[in-house]
Amino acid sequence: MAEKKGSILTGSRKIKALKSKYLLFIVSIIGIIAAQVGIEYWFDQETGLSLLLSALAVLIIVLEFVFIFLPSLKRLSSVNRKLVRLRKNLEDSERQYRELVEGAADIIYELNSEGQFSYVNELMLKMSGYTREEILGRPYADLIHPEDREYAATFYRNKLKAGEETSYLEFRMVGKHGQTAWIGQNVRYFYEHSWVTHVRVVARDITEGRLAQLALKQLKEEAERTTIAKSQFLSMMSHEIRTPMNAIIGLTNLLSETNLTAEQQRHVQLLKFSGENLLTIINDILDFSKIEAQKIVLERIDFDLQELVSKTIEIQRQRAVEKGVALQYTIDSGIPNVLKGDPVRVIQIITNLVSNAIKFTQEGSVTVNLVQQSSEANSVKLQIDVCDAGIGIAADKLETIFESFSQAEEGTTRKYGGTGLGLAITKKLVGLMDGSIRVISIPGAGSTFTCVLMLERGETILNKPALTADLSELPSHSNVLLAEDNVINQLMVTSFLKKWNIRFAVVENGLEALNAIQEKKFTLVLMDLQMPEMSGYEVTEKIRALDDPYFKNIPIVALTASAMTDVRDEVLAAGMNDFLSKPFHPDDLKQILIRYPFSAP
Ligand code: ADP
Repeated sequence: MAEKKGSILTGSRKIKALKSKYLLFIVSIIGIIAAQVGIEYWFDQETGLSLLLSALAVLIIVLEFVFIFLPSLKRLSSVNRKLVRLRKNLEDSERQYRELVEGAADIIYELNSEGQFSYVNELMLKMSGYTREEILGRPYADLIHPEDREYAATFYRNKLKAGEETSYLEFRMVGKHGQTAWIGQNVRYFYEHSWVTHVRVVARDITEGRLAQLALKQLKEEAERTTIAKSQFLSMMSHEIRTPMNAIIGLTNLLSETNLTAEQQRHVQLLKFSGENLLTIINDILDFSKIEAQKIVLERIDFDLQELVSKTIEIQRQRAVEKGVALQYTIDSGIPNVLKGDPVRVIQIITNLVSNAIKFTQEGSVTVNLVQQSSEANSVKLQIDVCDAGIGIAADKLETIFESFSQAEEGTTRKYGGTGLGLAITKKLVGLMDGSIRVISIPGAGSTFTCVLMLERGETILNKPALTADLSELPSHSNVLLAEDNVINQLMVTSFLKKWNIRFAVVENGLEALNAIQEKKFTLVLMDLQMPEMSGYEVTEKIRALDDPYFKNIPIVALTASAMTDVRDEVLAAGMNDFLSKPFHPDDLKQILIRYPFSAP
């Protein structure tokens, strides 16, 4: 393009030069004729000199014609030919560009400084349904869907204010007959002294993509709604089942502490075992539905890894001993003792893997090894290996066992119990900790589950009262207020308190609890969360707001039917000190009494 322009310029310069030569030629002829006329006039008759001069003039004219005029004429015609060729080239390329723009698969148009159409291509005419005459001069906003107008106007206003050179926006375009299409348009702004002179737009019909996107979004929302509905249903059902289960397990605990014959004692133990199994399943379902609904938020608190692992293993030891399976663990000394993360979930992961290992091992041993895979300034990659000498897993089942409700063999539930949820939950929890889990196994020889967790380095351990204390040393001055509306729960708590010779009083609703606490004679409050008149949360908030150190410090422990960890955050936020998850083991209640020694004034 630039080259062509250059050639045209040179051409026109040459024409100018030729024109001046032509002028010179004419002027010289006029000069010679004028000179001859002058001489003739001067001498007033034909002389030899005038003849000579005439001949000279004719000669000069001939010479000028041959040497100046003719070559110039030749050059002029060649320049003219070149010019014609250049003009044709220019017209060709212009036509090419026009054809390209007109026949483009994209919408192309230009707007003037007033935002009116100053050029539109064929596709734009086709899509909008307007004729060229109808659309040129029309404000572009006329073609934007009324619902998108405001947002498009704001978008472009901001772009212009910021002096942007280009922008991209998607909106609905409405045609002459009300037809709508989604378009995505690239705009280029042309400025002169910070005023927009015009804009050039290349746009594309994206209706198909948008509709597919919309359908996908609707499907996703639908799926999410279904998942939420499903988990709400599961959660509600599990809560409903938990309440009577609490009573069954609690009463079994009570029963087992009475004088029973050996056979009765065996039956009670079986009852308790079945109840606890059922509760584990319910908790698994609750947990799983919560994870599915993405409602699990991991905690970030300091914990002592050594203590956590040894407690978790000790809880499992009873079952291992009963089966004659050896259970041991090692912790790599390089692992920092204090880590930061969600200890409850770390316990859950180890418990799931270890209880499976014990469950599927008939004889031999189960070993848990904790090693540090790598470490950085702030984080530690912790590897947990759980090896057993159990039944092993077939190679084609190594992947599927991590899916929900899936077990390696059909008869597993019948033979070993379980729901096939444990590993699915474990995998999701590990995923939440940016970790991974895998298994290697030899059928008949055993399995090794390896999971890697990313944990932060901890700073300090909160000076928490020891979890284990001498349970024989219950504070004798204790006076417990039990705020609980459920009669069976009342019976369970009070019978233990009676047995341990602890003084207590019972109230059945929140309002009564509020009044009773204000008597200032209790050393601990066991507070049900859902009560008539006023919830346990509200009572606690009201008590903590009272202006007396007693009300600020009296230990309040929530009694909750929920096993979920977020209850912990809620009860702490309401000003309670701790919580006991129903059904609790008598030792848990003892721990609470020991953990919060408090004297009434
Ligand atoms: P559950 O144990 O409740 O059935 P899990 O999700 O914990 O559910 O485990 C799924 C399946 O994986 C088990 O049913 C079992 O078939 C297999 N499995 C898990 N751990 C082991 C193990 N240590 N040894 C053999 N098989 C195992």
